This record gives sequence, C-alpha cells and structure tokens, in this order.
Amino acid sequence: MSSLQAIRGMSDLLPAEVEGWAHVEAVLRAVLDSYGYREMRVPLVERTELFKRSIGEVTDIVEKEMYSFEDRNGVSLTLRPEATAGIVRAAIEHGMLHNQRHKVWHTGAMFRYEKPQKGRYRQFHQFDIEALGLPGPDIDAELIVMISRIWRALGIRHIALQVNSLGTSDSRARYRDELERYFRSHIDLLDEDCRRRLDRNPLRILDTKNPDLQDLVAKAPALEEWLDAESSAHFASVCAALQAADVPFRVNPRLVRGLDYYNRTVFEWVTDQLGTQGAVCAGGRYDGLVEQLGGSPTPAIGCAIGMERLVELVRLAGTIPAPRGSDIFIVAAGEAAQAVALALAELLRDRFPGRRIETNLGGGGFKAQMRRADASGAAVALILGDDEVRAGTVAIKPLRAERPQFSALVADAPGLVSDYLGGT
Ligand code: ATP
Ligand code: MG
Repeated sequence: MSSLQAIRGMSDLLPAEVEGWAHVEAVLRAVLDSYGYREMRVPLVERTELFKRSIGEVTDIVEKEMYSFEDRNGVSLTLRPEATAGIVRAAIEHGMLHNQRHKVWHTGAMFRYEKPQKGRYRQFHQFDIEALGLPGPDIDAELIVMISRIWRALGIRHIALQVNSLGTSDSRARYRDELERYFRSHIDLLDEDCRRRLDRNPLRILDTKNPDLQDLVAKAPALEEWLDAESSAHFASVCAALQAADVPFRVNPRLVRGLDYYNRTVFEWVTDQLGTQGAVCAGGRYDGLVEQLGGSPTPAIGCAIGMERLVELVRLAGTIPAPRGSDIFIVAAGEAAQAVALALAELLRDRFPGRRIETNLGGGGFKAQMRRADASGAAVALILGDDEVRAGTVAIKPLRAERPQFSALVADAPGLVSDYLGGT
C-alpha cells in the first residue's frame, strides 16, 4: 500500500522548526501585550457568505482561492482565508462594538487555494492585529510604530514600509471611474483576468501580478489626486507621526491591497530577502466593514503578518536562539534504581521549576546511558546503580565542568546539583 502524504501546500512543522516559531510567537505576544492588545480566537470555519460579503466578490481570494464546501445540511461553509472577517463577525455577535474600543490579536492557520511555492502555501499562518472603534490617525501611527518594534525585537533589518491612502468609498468611486477610463483606453493590452475586473472592479487591476502589465499599471492615474480633503489630512497626519517616531516609509500610490474592505490608510512591509514573496505584513483601515456586516458603524484598522515568511526572515537574520538542552539527566541501571530515579526526578522538578530534567528511558547499559546524558545537553548526570540504591546515595557527574564525579546522599542531591546548573 502506498503511504499517505500531506496535502500539497500544507506543511508539517517538526519540533526543530516549531522552536523557531515559538520564539517568534513569544516576541509577538510580548510586544502586543505591552501595547495593551488582548488575544481573541475565532473558528476555522465560517459561512461562505461572510467572506464574500467582506473580502469582496471580485478579489483573488473569493474568485479562486477559497476552500468552500457544503456541510451535511447543505450550508456553504469556507475554511477561513483570513481572520478579519471572523473577528468582526464575532465582535458584532457579542455586542463588543457599541461605542467601545477593542485592541485584539489573533493567530492561526488560514487556507487559500493558491499555487504553492516558496513563501506561498495553501495552509499558512497569520498573526492578525485589529483595533476596533478608533477612527485614527493616532491608532494608525501607533499600529505601524508597534510593528516596527516587532521587527527590531526580532533582529530584522531588511524590511521596508510602504504606505498609501485609499480615501473614502466616495473618493474611491470617483477614482474608479477615472481608472476605468484609463484601462479601457488600453483594453487590448489587458489579460483576461483584468478585462473581467475592468467591469466589476477596476481597482483590482492595480493589484495584478502579471509582469507584462506592470508598466501599464505604473502609468495609471494615481489615487492621490482623487482623495477627499479629510482623507488627505488623515494621511498627512499619519505620515507626520511616523516621521516624528523615526519610522522610515515610502508612499506607494499603487498600493491598493487585495481585499475590498480597506479605506484610507493602507500599508505593507516588504523585504528583498525572501525572493518573489516579499510581503511580510499588510493591512489598513476598514471603517465600513462592521456596518457592511450588519453592525453599528465602527471605525477600525488592522493588519496581518504572514508567519511563514516572518519566521524565514528571522531565521535568515540568525536571531533564533539555539535549542535548549536538558539540565539534569538521570542514569539508572536496574529496576530498583529506575524506581529511585523516577522519584528523584520528580523531586528535582519540584525544586527547579522551568529546568529540563530527563530520566533515562528504555534501559541500556551505563555506557549507552552516559552517551544519552551527554547528547541531551545536560549540565549534570546523576547516576544510580545497585550499589547506590543499597547505600541511599547517588553519583553526581558534572558533564560540562572539569570537576570529578562525587557521591552524595539522594536527599542532598538537589542542593548539590544547583551549583552546576548555571543561569537559565
Ligand atoms: P499576496 O499579494 O502575497 O498574495 P495578499 O495580499 O493576498 O498577499 P494578505 O491577504 O494581505 O496577503 O495577507 C497578509 C500576509 O499574509 C501577506 O503579506 C503574506 O505575508 C501572508 N500570506 C498571504 N497569503 C499567503 C500564502 N498563501 N502563504 C503564505 N503566506 C501568505
Ligand atoms: Mg494573495
């Protein structure tokens, strides 16, 4: 029988990789916590309609990337392709939005049926940050400043910030007409996808990945000239705050983002270290989304960090701490010694919380056990044989210091090994 394999584009994370992820996640949690954000969790599956209504029908995600299926009652469900829609749905459902503010983060797997390649997967992970109930521009700036703190905390340097303003839905509608006129006058150059978008949502053409169209896109009219006065002032204020906070950025007038719900401030952090999939964090303001999904009008801003790309970037920066070894390894030969070892290990775990204490498992002679002790990275081996058990003692062998092995009463062992453990 042939062996089963993981689904294409969906990866297993083995322990050595998870250690890197855990480091990155711990830094993210700590920074978010220090700005007063709280964790939120939403289901992996939502009604398909939620994503169609929020992300937009004419987007890559809804047009071709969703994992949708009917449940046993014939209801169309979808594996979440992003988290914002679910978070907003939950916030409305739990009455979190009546003149309230919430700063939340969320992390977990997302699913998109894309062409798998380096940095682009079908199951991937995002770390989402959302601030609900705040109109900005102060929160816009703080969010971006917080993300730059995250990069610093992770030792990442090669990452650049692009910002833009999409204005209000009105100014966007006017720009949209202008854009449609422009692309219609070059319709013979457009690919099939973009021609379809021309009728339904010409803004999406700016988001095309087709390299042949980049020149045409670059020459398209810029949204900036169509911004309403309030959005211009909002954007100027965000830019000024970033300058004051010494966060370098570039205004990219073509930055429109791949989801429909954005307005005003949008931003993206891009690196040149990861090849073609260089966007590590992307987001923006979505002031209309809550109302669009049936809640009371609530301004909001958020962003998502692509965890696979971020972890890879941190790996390249070389700032993932080396895996930690054991602290104490107990070697025990014979049944009586194994029983003493089990009890002694528990004693040591009580005494040294947070230390890694391993007992030899699966038997083996002293020599093989000592090799395991050494490979575990332990600073000290505690050795128990028949003689020790009879005498109520244990041999203490420092493994990383040039000090001879010595014998002690089992009861004294915890006090004596602490000298060899070093700082954590
Ligand atoms: P792209 O233009 O690369 O397709 P996107 O606009 O679809 O990105 P968002 O929906 O804004 O991306 O998601 C935010 C972040 O999540 C991206 O910047 C990226 O880091 C990450 N991301 C998105 N799709 C994938 C994927 N299929 N595999 C891995 N990471 C992804
Ligand atoms: Mg995409």
